[in-house]
Amino acid sequence: MADTTNISAPPIQRPDDRYDPQGIEEKWHARWQADTALYAAEPHSSKRKKYYVLEMLPYPSGALHMGHVRNYAIGDALARYMWMQGYNVLHPMGWDAFGLPAENAAIKNKVPPRKWTLDNIAHMKTQMKRMGFSYDWSREVTTCLPDYYRWNQWFFLKLFEKGLAYRKKSKVNWCPECATVLANEQVVGGMCWRHEDTRVELRELEQWFVRTTNYSDELLRDLDQLENWPEKVKTMQRNWIGRSEGALVDFQIDTSEGKPAGKITVFTTRIDTIYGATSIQLAPEHPLVAGLIGDNSHLQAKVEDLLSEQGKAKEAGDIGGIEKHGVFTGAYAINPFNQEKMPIWVANYILADYGTGAIMSVPAHDERDFEFANKYGLEVRIVILPRRIGEPPAPGEAEKPVLPYTHTDSMLINSGEFNELSNEDALVKMAEYAEKHGFGKATVTYRLKDWGISRQRYWGTPIPMLYCEKDGVVPVPENQLPVILPEDVDITVQGGSPLSHVPEFINAKCPKCGGPARRETDTMDTFVDSSWYFYRYTNAQLADRPLDTATADYWFPIDQYIGGVEHAILHLIYSRFWTKFMRDIGLVHNNEPVTRLFTQGMVIKDGAKMSKSKGNVVSPDDMVARYGADSTRMYALFAAPPDRDLDWQEAGVEGVHRFVGRVWRLVTKHGSYFPGDWKTLLLTQAEPPGAGRDIQRKVHQTIKRITTDFDGRWHFNTSISAVMELVNVLYLYWEGDFYSGNKKEAKIDGVKISVSDEIKQGTLRCVVLLLAPFAPYLAAELWEVLGEKDGLLRHPWPQYDAVLAKEDETTYAVQVNGKLRSTVAVPADSAEEVVLERVMADEKVRASLDGKQIVKKIVIPNKLVNLVVK
Ligand SMILES: [Zn+2]
Ligand SMILES: [Zn+2]
Repeated sequence: MADTTNISAPPIQRPDDRYDPQGIEEKWHARWQADTALYAAEPHSSKRKKYYVLEMLPYPSGALHMGHVRNYAIGDALARYMWMQGYNVLHPMGWDAFGLPAENAAIKNKVPPRKWTLDNIAHMKTQMKRMGFSYDWSREVTTCLPDYYRWNQWFFLKLFEKGLAYRKKSKVNWCPECATVLANEQVVGGMCWRHEDTRVELRELEQWFVRTTNYSDELLRDLDQLENWPEKVKTMQRNWIGRSEGALVDFQIDTSEGKPAGKITVFTTRIDTIYGATSIQLAPEHPLVAGLIGDNSHLQAKVEDLLSEQGKAKEAGDIGGIEKHGVFTGAYAINPFNQEKMPIWVANYILADYGTGAIMSVPAHDERDFEFANKYGLEVRIVILPRRIGEPPAPGEAEKPVLPYTHTDSMLINSGEFNELSNEDALVKMAEYAEKHGFGKATVTYRLKDWGISRQRYWGTPIPMLYCEKDGVVPVPENQLPVILPEDVDITVQGGSPLSHVPEFINAKCPKCGGPARRETDTMDTFVDSSWYFYRYTNAQLADRPLDTATADYWFPIDQYIGGVEHAILHLIYSRFWTKFMRDIGLVHNNEPVTRLFTQGMVIKDGAKMSKSKGNVVSPDDMVARYGADSTRMYALFAAPPDRDLDWQEAGVEGVHRFVGRVWRLVTKHGSYFPGDWKTLLLTQAEPPGAGRDIQRKVHQTIKRITTDFDGRWHFNTSISAVMELVNVLYLYWEGDFYSGNKKEAKIDGVKISVSDEIKQGTLRCVVLLLAPFAPYLAAELWEVLGEKDGLLRHPWPQYDAVLAKEDETTYAVQVNGKLRSTVAVPADSAEEVVLERVMADEKVRASLDGKQIVKKIVIPNKLVNLVVK
């Protein structure tokens, strides 16, 4: 690191200087800008322990908002702390630069997406630098540039090669507003994730898919290894993957009344109850519904109603609480176990995308089916007895289980050859029976679907595939990558992808036969970009590979990843999948990308999340202009624990700003150049009693609290208030009470004790070091004011001594029969006899003991004495 300090003589004392954040921050901003190596990580050959701290990369929307500032202030404090702890820190930043808003802005403002995006990046980068975030910009990744997205294409070819990328015609979620396909994950309660008011439609299109389901089991299993991920994120992923064991059973449609032939495949976790099934229930969107109801307009209208009821319940996020409705289609299916005819219904609580979109209804043994059957008068047939195997039924009990009876520690009745089996055995045997007779099998289903990555939009990575009349689908050869996304494209055209209107793009040569071929015009979902971007940071300039394995092995997994909980499923499942795929093609050796995940709370104002549409956005630029970057960042950390929501109050920023000013005045007034060793005495040897010892103790307590916060619970709000307390104590000794003007003086036997210069100067230096992760500009300036020449960024973090942090005296609460009677000061860690001696000498204690007999004395060290009397 370049030496940015230039002080050789003691600095001039500046007691009257006002704290001028703009002056200080602009000065250091310029110096840090000039020092490109300042935040650079050492190469992976470094002997230091590595620490990879990462905040989720932003979408370049145009300006930083306070949610960004909070996210980055957390990561930045941690990065700076780890540098001071001697780690080789990797702290990069980049841009999730493809995506719809660039196209929408382009249409609205007539600016090409590329220009819009790159301009936004330039502006946001300027803002980030002004905030003083410690990013190594030599590793910047911009996903919309060919040097990055060519590797998306390369990965796609690898996926294709391994059979993990495939093309199929499928019903896809289509947002009419976006005019594109959405992934399942982008459909929120039936609505587009970007257009809350736009209902997603189903359309049939030829799409590219990535076989994420090949990794369903591993993605689920490995969640158990992620000990340092928030439980709520893991739960969301488990639910998303949604594994359930059960069986598939085919029910043939009864054709005797002129209904079309076909079969309904049902997924059930309770095949053991199949003899109790009395109807089949289809989702309104089930593909067989149309054929079954034919041109009966009454039924068609009913089904439409059911679908719209379902849509509303999804919208409200409460499909489980839906008021159940259904309609009989007039058709029947045959139960393959007993050949019974069962009515086929359509019901609003059956979802098309869960299981097979069809269920067998067993009212006696399922809550929902029971409710539905009672409502519509469907038969309820008991096939499970509430009795353990081998237990004789209690008189009368066997015939009358309380319905619905859903327990599984029981046995089967009314089930033909399977009678008297336990549920457990029946689940296995009946699935085997179905498989043997060709109408079903045991299976495991997942809610997780393959990842549809095709987008009919312009601003994304072109999928590197060709279509030749002779050879069909042909991958673009690796040596022809990247397939460049053309500029100057009219993206306002209607119908299909804008790329399909660019002849220079679509017309290509088939690499197999040399004949004419047509290029794929779909682009990739932007979640592809963010699935592996953090690997690219380890070697962002690499021209011939996406990453260098040895370098990635050194840095991965990421030690600390910080971002919003809204990414708990999308980004964080795709990137886990991508890592596992990269491992399987030998590119990396880690199973998981992230060791520790932290999800910060939201920034809210006036009771709502800050957003443009709500008009409650606070601009970081305004805050910096008014209070400086240090106060803005520090407030973002101080106002709430990072995992909680932060209620933005400008008065709070002003308060932090006043505190920063107090620190400034304290250090500039009392600090001076100190050529000697300020550390040994302050940090390692006990000062004699008096002010020096009191201050020393407070210093050690403060270091301890902040160090513990960084290493554990990350309550930076209490870290910062610890520094505030320390500064208050110092004011009390050196400036007098802030409010009353009474100066605290330490006296022993009436003789005034003064604090040694060593302790005083050491203490001021510790204040600066402890603030360095939170207020880097202030700390840098004060470090220079104190005449310190080494770089603050990598100056060792001060170490506390637990003994020196200990209070000399502790206060015991004294209870008599559990009631607090007095408090008594005793030297810390005194023996029990000494404690009791002091306690018994206390006036109030003696008064409350008057005439009573002590039967028991309970001493909790350094805390409490309880005397039991009668
Ligand atoms: Zn949309
Ligand atoms: Zn060909």
